[in-house]
Amino acid sequence: MKKITIAIDGHSSCGKSTMAKDLAQEIGYIYIDSGAMYRACTLYAMRHGMITADGKVDTVALENQMPQIDVSFQLNASTGRPDTYLNGENVEAAIRTMEVSNLVSHVAALPFVRLAMTRLQQQMGEAGGIVMDGRDIGTAVFPNAELKFFVTASDEIRAQRRYDELKAKGEQPDFEAVLANLRERDHIDSTRAVNPLRQADDALVLDNSHMTKDEQRQWLLDRFHERIEACS
Ligand code: C5P
Repeated sequence: MKKITIAIDGHSSCGKSTMAKDLAQEIGYIYIDSGAMYRACTLYAMRHGMITADGKVDTVALENQMPQIDVSFQLNASTGRPDTYLNGENVEAAIRTMEVSNLVSHVAALPFVRLAMTRLQQQMGEAGGIVMDGRDIGTAVFPNAELKFFVTASDEIRAQRRYDELKAKGEQPDFEAVLANLRERDHIDSTRAVNPLRQADDALVLDNSHMTKDEQRQWLLDRFHERIEACS
């Protein structure tokens, strides 16, 4: 059966990664979390003193270091999901903190960072049979993807989901801070000069504010099967 490319874009914290991972697992495709790649670059910049707490980046230093930043994924046998590696170190937990979330959009807005990550994402998805989620997958990374989704949900619902996720990890998040972070990220992501977050003209819109996980799963699978039939 033909293997297609599936792009899932949308706002922060609307459950894109979970739905993309689940869909990939179900249909036997590879899942790639492009946001994790921008998070890993941000962690690198933080660890090397190239970014201030309010998001000012030493762009000369970071651009010089880009060839030294190796981001990859390896399957974690116990979770059955890919973990993110930065220069050989498993950084899956380190890239999910609020500190990284607060800074990542500043790093992701830099044209040289986007160029490097876009190239890497295109290489990773070259052979098809992938589900990639992010902000610009259907518009810039794989504009010819056979199936594109644009996912959204209300700000409050997204913030609540993110808050619950951080709590479950043992963090003590502040709801208002989580809400402010996702609004700020959406704003930076949608207004940056290079490859801003926007809905591709041919994307199917999924507002999952009031959908259960099962309804969403079934909806995605139905759209996938329809597309596969149309492609064959
Ligand atoms: O998907 P996630 O929330 O982990 O992404 C973290 C950040 O990485 C986003 O807020 C956005 O700034 C950036 N990003 C991006 N382009 C992508 C994926 C993520 O700019 N394709």
